[in-house]
Amino acid sequence: MGRGAGWPTLGYPSPPIESTSNITPRGLTTMPSEGDLECETLIIGSGAGGGVVASTLAEKGMDVMVVERGAYIPRSERNNREFEMVSRMYADRGMLTTNDQAISLFAGQNLGGGTSVNWSVSLRPTEPLLNEWAREHDLPHLLTPEFSQCIDDVCEQLNVVPEVPHNRQNQMLLTGSECIGGPSGPLPQNVRGCEKHGYSQCGYCLFGCRNGFKRDVTEACFNEKRDTGDVRIHDNVEIKRLVHRNGNVLYAEAVARSSNGELRSLKIRAKRYVVSAGGIFTPACC
Ligand SMILES: Cc1cc2nc3c(=O)[nH]c(=O)nc-3n(C[C@H](O)[C@H](O)[C@H](O)COP(=O)(O)OP(=O)(O)OC[C@H]3O[C@@H](n4cnc5c(N)ncnc54)[C@H](O)[C@@H]3O)c2cc1C
Repeated sequence: MGRGAGWPTLGYPSPPIESTSNITPRGLTTMPSEGDLECETLIIGSGAGGGVVASTLAEKGMDVMVVERGAYIPRSERNNREFEMVSRMYADRGMLTTNDQAISLFAGQNLGGGTSVNWSVSLRPTEPLLNEWAREHDLPHLLTPEFSQCIDDVCEQLNVVPEVPHNRQNQMLLTGSECIGGPSGPLPQNVRGCEKHGYSQCGYCLFGCRNGFKRDVTEACFNEKRDTGDVRIHDNVEIKRLVHRNGNVLYAEAVARSSNGELRSLKIRAKRYVVSAGGIFTPACC
């Protein structure tokens, strides 16, 4: 891969290419070649919601299975190349749109979901927002101290820090905003260590962090160093639909893709189903 002639003039450093160390997410399991599966709790989708719920339940001793439509992309394969990473880490290879193709939809599809590709800005829900959700969606527990404690716990688990050093372009925005007296300030982010590294403020978060600095789901919830109990994680498995009878879910219909691209259909039965497939795909699964 070459370097653009104008890059040095622009001050563009080019994507880093040095190798990096890998982790193996705890519980990442190869799908058996035949038969249906069973578990106590089936978590559909491994993003911000699914990852936290799965690791929390597994730590409490529950038998948890996570199925993820996308693939696990190890750090060493996250090469910061826009075309390749968008194809591998985003839904529909980054080409997802509304039916009329008027609006592009950018959603993570890999082990970690949106957390692997997002910008790591980590805001607590504000009081007016919690009041609105509690009132309009009949969720009074959002206003309890216990819920506030849950947010604290997640912030700790994800290592949310109040401020990180900015790269030049963001620092210029901040300085410019301060100069004109606009409202501005640092945003909390869930990262650990990027300010100390040679690729400090590299700006490639949206193609997956290759150094493990961003505390995405694979790093914060399924890191091999964390004892997350009995969790089985299957990537490349899509839930097509939940089959219901008399208001109860009987089983989930799934399609698994093997490493050689073969598809096989199977049923997954569970006592409990957590549908955490993101804002776009959750309704389609239910
Ligand atoms: C480029 C980008 C930048 C962002 N930056 C920020 C930011 O800085 N701060 C912030 O707070 N938010 C940010 N977000 C949004 C944030 O990442 C999402 O709000 C969050 O990840 C949503 O969590 P979730 O668990 O609902 O879904 P997701 O994290 O999207 O996870 C859903 C998972 O379910 C999987 N899935 C879908 N359908 C199925 C199926 N049928 N079977 C099995 N698996 C399925 C998907 O592949 C995906 O991995 C950003 C998002 C993007 C795309």
